[in-house]
Amino acid sequence: MTTLSWADNSYRPPSFQTDSGKAVFVDFKNATYDIEYDLEKKQVRVIADIQLDLPEDGMPIFDSIANPTKVTINGNRVRQKLVETPGKETQVRVVQSQLPAGSYRLQVELPMDQEYLGINNIKFGKRTVNNKFSMSDSEDRGYLELYLPSNLEYDQVPMTLNIQLKGKSEPHQIYSNGQVGKVNSKKFSVSFPDSYTSSSLFFHLVDSNQVRELTFEYRSKNGRKIPIIAYQEKSWPNGDVIDSETSARMLKEAMQIAIATMEELEKNFGAYPHNSFLMKVEGEDSGMEHCGAAITGVKAVRHELIHSYFGRGYLPANGNAGWIDEALTNWAENGYKSRDSFKDEDARVLAAQPIYTRHHHEGGYSQGEAFVEYLHGKLSGKGGLVPFLRHLVGTKKLKTLTTEEFIEEMNSYYGEDLTPEFRRVVYAQDPISL
Ligand SMILES: [Zn+2]
Repeated sequence: MTTLSWADNSYRPPSFQTDSGKAVFVDFKNATYDIEYDLEKKQVRVIADIQLDLPEDGMPIFDSIANPTKVTINGNRVRQKLVETPGKETQVRVVQSQLPAGSYRLQVELPMDQEYLGINNIKFGKRTVNNKFSMSDSEDRGYLELYLPSNLEYDQVPMTLNIQLKGKSEPHQIYSNGQVGKVNSKKFSVSFPDSYTSSSLFFHLVDSNQVRELTFEYRSKNGRKIPIIAYQEKSWPNGDVIDSETSARMLKEAMQIAIATMEELEKNFGAYPHNSFLMKVEGEDSGMEHCGAAITGVKAVRHELIHSYFGRGYLPANGNAGWIDEALTNWAENGYKSRDSFKDEDARVLAAQPIYTRHHHEGGYSQGEAFVEYLHGKLSGKGGLVPFLRHLVGTKKLKTLTTEEFIEEMNSYYGEDLTPEFRRVVYAQDPISL
């Protein structure tokens, strides 16, 4: 069940045969999304304009949860089909047109679905809309494809959103980890760094009267000013109002945790790798991380901010790299512990899920953390893991990372072959005694 390719330097998953021909994973060169929120019809319409490279002859792959209403390649209408990957790990959309390798313009029109994975993230009110891109790294097809036609996590894509409100509207604003430009009261553009992947971006369009905000200007160790922004809606998801005192207390608490965590992270792992930290503070204990942003409960602020170094500082290239993010984040969150041994029965296929798997292995949290504690202990004579992770965050800042590259980086940093430990623990093969 494991498909391990130690020598494969390509982030692109292998092409595969379908009933109608060979499906090929592509390289998005850039993507522009026109998103129209019709406040009267209460509908959201998306037109995606994507420039892509098809690296070999075949049928281009993209993905979107919503079924596209129109797809064109270089202006010509084509069909697309939702297809299962060979091991049934996931589904992707395959353009039903055999094309020679080369550059193409893919345009996709679709409605933005209002509900998937039990998440309802588009709410229309009277002259208002509230749209938050909630994502999940523990579910299949849980990233940007929930909202927009996207590529998989391996691809870094310069993305721009052009936002248009149609019909009478209250003032709205956008919270995002991209650069937000306001053209007029109903028109915005958001552009994201070229390095972002489908799990990187945070976007929330909201009625300006419905939010409370607290900001703090953090001074980074390298002298940069880093705005930390905590904000909250004025009501809970069930509609109950949050009084201003509760809100002020939660935002303040979230901010204090963020500042303390930021100081600790900069001290241990070097300068903060993003321009700001944006928190949408919610009532749950859990959260979801993005690059320099998070949707988070107060108790999860520390965890989600650590992810801005591990998982959203370097960027996982696939589902089999996701365990590293949770393992390192939990380990830092819980105080950099070490242990002498790692129990055989705790080995999991953290990095060897079937190859097209897009979500992380849930064992990354506990078994992954325990493995990191073990490595920290084993390497204590060489300073433990902190100096290596500082090096990793510096060299892999906003670059994609696979488990195989992580192992290589570690082997070369410590001048020691740690591959057998990884094979035993995260690939759950070649049992050896640790
Ligand atoms: Zn996490």
